Amino acid sequence: SRDVKGLLKRNWILIATIVSVILGIALGVLVRDYSSLSHLEKQYFGFPGEILMRMLKLVILPLIVSSMITGVAALDSEVSGRIGLRAVVYYLSTTIIAVILGIVLVMTIKPGVSQSSDHINREGSTPNVTTVDTLLDLIRNMFPENLVQACFQQYKTQRKEIAPTKINTGQVNTTTFPPLTTIISTVAQNLTKDYQVVGSYSNGINVLGLIVFCVTFGLVIGKMGERGQILLEFFDALNEATMRLVQIIMCYMPIGILFLIAAKIMEVEDWEIFRKMGLYMNPFTFTLGMAQALVTALMISSSSATLPVTFRCAEENNRIDKRITRFVLPVGATINMDGTALYEAVASIFIAQMNNYDLDAGQIVTISITATVASIGAAGVPNAGMVTMVIVLTAVGLPASDVTLIIAVDWLLDRFRTMINVLGDAYGAGIVQKLSKRELERVDLIVDVDAANP
Ligand code: ASP
Repeated sequence: SRDVKGLLKRNWILIATIVSVILGIALGVLVRDYSSLSHLEKQYFGFPGEILMRMLKLVILPLIVSSMITGVAALDSEVSGRIGLRAVVYYLSTTIIAVILGIVLVMTIKPGVSQSSDHINREGSTPNVTTVDTLLDLIRNMFPENLVQACFQQYKTQRKEIAPTKINTGQVNTTTFPPLTTIISTVAQNLTKDYQVVGSYSNGINVLGLIVFCVTFGLVIGKMGERGQILLEFFDALNEATMRLVQIIMCYMPIGILFLIAAKIMEVEDWEIFRKMGLYMNPFTFTLGMAQALVTALMISSSSATLPVTFRCAEENNRIDKRITRFVLPVGATINMDGTALYEAVASIFIAQMNNYDLDAGQIVTISITATVASIGAAGVPNAGMVTMVIVLTAVGLPASDVTLIIAVDWLLDRFRTMINVLGDAYGAGIVQKLSKRELERVDLIVDVDAANP
């Protein structure tokens, strides 16, 4: 019984969180069935949950900055370069595997194929942003022009159509070749349609920009010797202080989550969805160690906001080296989204199936590439994946407006893909640590020698 006591003591927040999820669902169902709250009252009900979200988001910034800078500065540039490369290789390959897995599954199960035979109308939607735009935005965001602005805004391309140049198609005989004229004028119109990129900013931390800055800054500090030590210690202390704040926030988590989930349950219209989706458990201890982070991700559908919890689970339960987590987790939360990649591929093929829109091999390849890019480009915030899926849809000629077909279920799907995203980041940190054991030991040795011979 001492064992059980110890277990309870060590995991009380996790246990309390799971209990509060169950209580929250029960409370939501009760209030929903036995009272008629107005929309506003339901919103008030979720207020403690809103506070939880605000607190988690609050610590993201100091957490990312302090962990990236100290994480990089603590290693020499060669070692951090190698660790970084491993992380990126892991992120990309798992994302691609996720996309392929999704495509294979959705093409075999064919969940969207219906009996009806009406085909989709391909016209009418002009792509607002393209894959190229997203890629360029990704790179632009890596180089923020203003560090303060990067703490609350991200660059986002918007396209503006500019008046097309006139092309003379009058020479074609319209009576004998009516279809040909239509084709020519459509092609001509599309060729002359011109766009202008209008820069705009959207709310949300430019995590990628901050990461690039902090990595560089950390490298510079690491090379500065004695004088860099002051800064390093400052950011190290900042990191510790932030983690203590996280500890406090986690004590509040069960309460916040109870109301968050209760308010959501009151809102839901379509209950079918629960029947359609099966929950599953992964039995591995590593996954269990991440449980608190996974429950959090499931509840708040944001990998960025889950980051503080991911850190704690990875470092404390799974004993991943801080030098790895500090470096790998913030990047992962931003660009490594296996769940989102899988979802984007599956959902766009699902939409094609629902529309009886046949995809050829080239389009499938297009989907796998754009889904990868779109998942990297998606921010770790709720519903981001659904928004960037517009890129995938327009790339294969499906109307962007078709995302409306799945909006109703996204609040639920989002939770599961966020959970997979967070789990993928954690596995990434674990695997990169395994692969980097030798370098880390070497660095330890140097530090020990330094300490012995001051
Ligand atoms: N909500 C997801 C996340 O934060 C992103 C998405 O919408 O797919 O990881």
